[in-house]
Amino acid sequence: MHVSIQVTARFETPFHIGGGVTGESATIKPLLKDGLGRPYLPGSALKGVLRHEAERVVRALAGENAACRAPRAETMCPQRPRFGEFCPVCRTFGSPARPSPFHFGDLRADVADAETVASTALRYGVGVSRYRGAAAENLLYVTEIVSTAPMIPLSGIIEGDVPEEEGNGPLALLLVAINALQMLGGGRSRGLGWLNLEVTAPPLTPAQTREELRRWLSIND
Ligand SMILES: [Zn+2]
Repeated sequence: MHVSIQVTARFETPFHIGGGVTGESATIKPLLKDGLGRPYLPGSALKGVLRHEAERVVRALAGENAACRAPRAETMCPQRPRFGEFCPVCRTFGSPARPSPFHFGDLRADVADAETVASTALRYGVGVSRYRGAAAENLLYVTEIVSTAPMIPLSGIIEGDVPEEEGNGPLALLLVAINALQMLGGGRSRGLGWLNLEVTAPPLTPAQTREELRRWLSIND
C-alpha cells in the first residue's frame, strides 16, 4: 500500500536553529539553516523524534518490552521476541537490520516566508552586535538572531510503500506518533519549545487510527 502524507509543523514558542553554534548535537538543535539562512527540519531529525514518541506509545499500550531500545544497534531488533523478530517501532521506523517502509522528507518553509525570516534575522543580528560591541559575544549573537525570527510553518512529505501483510499498523503508529509529538528536541530550557505537528487530509480518521493500532499490537501478541 502506497502512503503519502503531508505534515506541517507550527511552532508555538521560539526555536533555535542549529549549525551556528558548535558543540551541540542535532538532537538538541534539530532545526538547521540552508545556504541562504532559511530554516528547515531535516527528515532524519523528524524521524528520530517521531520514533521516540512511537516507543513511548507502544510501551504504554503493550508493555515495557514491546519496543526495543534505540539507538544502539546491540539493543535493537532483531532480538526482542514479544512481537516476533521486529518490534512495531522497528517495523515502522526501521532498525539497522531492516529499512523503514517510510521515507521522511525535510520540512521546509514556504520560500517567500523563509526569505522574510532570513532578512529579519540579519537585521536583528546587526543590531544586537552593535549593542554588545564585541565579537566575543558570538554565541549569544547567534541565539538572539534565531529566537527572534517569526514563527513560520514548515511542511514536508512522509511517504512509502507498506508491505500488504503489515496492513495499516505502521501507518497507524506513525499517525499516533505525529499526534503525540509536542516538543522538539531537548527540554523547554533549551528553547526549542512547543510545536503542533499536523497531517493534511489524514488517510485514517482518529477512531480508525486507534482501532488499527490496537488491533496491530494485540494480533501480534
Ligand atoms: Zn525494535
